Amino acid sequence: MTRAEILDWLKTEDENRLEELWQAADEARRQNVGEEVHLRGLLEISNLCRRKCWYCGLREDNFAVERYRMNQEEIMACVHQAVAFGYGTVVMQSGEDLGIKGGWMAGLIRRIKQETPLAVTLSLGERDLKDLAAWREAGADRYLLRFETSNRTLYDRIHPPLSGQRSDRIGQLRHLKELGFEIGSGVMIGIPGQSYEDLASDIEMFRSLDLDMIGVGPYILHPDTTLGRFAKAFYASPGEQVPNTEAMTYKVMALARLVCPQANIPSTTALATMNLEKGRELGLMRGGNIVMPNLTPQKYRAMYEIYPAKACIDETADQCRSCMAGRIHSIGRVVGSGRGDAPNRARAV
Ligand code: SAM
Ligand code: SF4
Repeated sequence: MTRAEILDWLKTEDENRLEELWQAADEARRQNVGEEVHLRGLLEISNLCRRKCWYCGLREDNFAVERYRMNQEEIMACVHQAVAFGYGTVVMQSGEDLGIKGGWMAGLIRRIKQETPLAVTLSLGERDLKDLAAWREAGADRYLLRFETSNRTLYDRIHPPLSGQRSDRIGQLRHLKELGFEIGSGVMIGIPGQSYEDLASDIEMFRSLDLDMIGVGPYILHPDTTLGRFAKAFYASPGEQVPNTEAMTYKVMALARLVCPQANIPSTTALATMNLEKGRELGLMRGGNIVMPNLTPQKYRAMYEIYPAKACIDETADQCRSCMAGRIHSIGRVVGSGRGDAPNRARAV
């Protein structure tokens, strides 16, 4: 697909034409990753963070957040629950928390690998190469790190440097790939300052990074953040600012499926937050093939508030599993079995 075609799809509002896009994405999904929807158990292991990303409720200087870090026994109890639920993967996510020590995490990964058949996905922010290499060596399979936007000026604005060091998520993704991780990345849609040209470049970047997983979701304003307070000051010029809408999110998911047909693409919680009734299903019908039911213990759920009114905060892990399975069946799809590795990787092994 050419850049002009991507831009044209992003800008069109013609419902009949969009129906063509949804159908093309659904067909590409069916041919490349089939009817299975894989369930990845999401475990939010810590909400401590040393960064001050302008959009995120977990940023270090949001003092309204009560902070937590799970211990190894709590984590292992949830991991065993993932096995009992039949999930093939556990995704451990956190703020960029240096209290999660490299050696401690490597020990935890080894333990999961010894005690369960689960694939292990990490989403722990930017870490030094030594830690990443140790985690890969311990058996971690995949790493998720969204690059958020390919516009370097916008990126630098919303990711303030840390101790004078520029944040460099794309650099880290390249290292992760070299270490042999399956890599997942993506963007928020409708970040104040994001233009249509930027978003088209983001989609081209999915292709050039050769991503195994692509996670996209709408930007949702959090009032206790820099963008929450000053969003208007940063909007792109009239007609150029990408809206943070549900419709735009489906367009980007569908285009991601068409430019990276073999990627694993989740239908995200941010989408479900925008449309509690049908957001997950529509995401799965417009390119998605993954959902991430939450395994985080009830007492920590509400503390992982990256944006307000996040969906799936009150349900137990068991309820999340049943809800997701019901939604998958309601659209005639099947719950995936096994690890659900990226098809291009699974063939290479
Ligand atoms: N700290 C790790 C990181 O940044 O990669 C993992 C946790 S972070 C909360 C996961 C993702 O949440 C971010 O990559 C970002 O895309 C998303 N996120 C954060 N704030 C958000 C917001 N206000 N609206 C939508 N998504 C948001
Ligand atoms: Fe921290 Fe990740 Fe939120 Fe940035 S996006 S503040 S690194 S949790």
